Amino acid sequence: MSAETETLRTLIDDCRRGVVFTGAGISTESGIPDFRGPNGLWKKIKPIDFQEYLRSEEVRQKSWRRWFEHGQGLLGAKPNAGHFAVAELVRQGRVSAVITQNVDNLHQYSGIASERVIELHGNATYAKCLDCEAVVTLESVAAEYRQSGRVGPCTACGGIVKTATISFGQPMPEQSMRRAEQETLACDLFIVLGSSLTVYPAAGFPALAKQQGAKLVIVNQQPTELDGVADLVVHAGIGETLRRVVPPGD
Ligand code: ZN
Repeated sequence: MSAETETLRTLIDDCRRGVVFTGAGISTESGIPDFRGPNGLWKKIKPIDFQEYLRSEEVRQKSWRRWFEHGQGLLGAKPNAGHFAVAELVRQGRVSAVITQNVDNLHQYSGIASERVIELHGNATYAKCLDCEAVVTLESVAAEYRQSGRVGPCTACGGIVKTATISFGQPMPEQSMRRAEQETLACDLFIVLGSSLTVYPAAGFPALAKQQGAKLVIVNQQPTELDGVADLVVHAGIGETLRRVVPPGD
């Protein structure tokens, strides 16, 4: 074990209640592209704004077309060593919640109960009616799109159907933000995995954790804005780092 992984192991052993905060970096190890990263999709094409999506049927259809062309890559992705190590920490009771900026459902797929995963940007593995909140599977949306080249309104209420992600210009999900704050205030160890901590307000949580006296750990390939105040910074892959710190459970 390197000095870094030994320090991380000690911090985890000594903590009373840990929180894990994940960003795109944990999922790139599962082959999911970082849409917001320096080479991400959103640097090449302009993301669709939520208000425009609400206003224009044309924009909605353009958005679905894009999704079928670019967004499906994350369907079928599998959790990796990093996700499984986090799941093991939850299983052992060391981590009470996982706050994530990711929309890929990989924490749930790794075996963490969905009530312990707090999604700040929603979930891209299903769609939802914006009015009645009926869940629409992407399989049924895809079938409709294949058949007619369009995605129509909610069959239950006629409302607008959209992937269950939080789009640019869409308000942050209030309940998730509140739960994330409560978990952050209650923890004594806050571990950031694979986030450059540039997307606010989400990135405010590690700063809040530090302020209220928790230890802050950052594992990320690149430097982040909070490296200077963290108790431990590891610039390495998440899977390789955590595999050494958290042996797979039996
Ligand atoms: Zn509806």
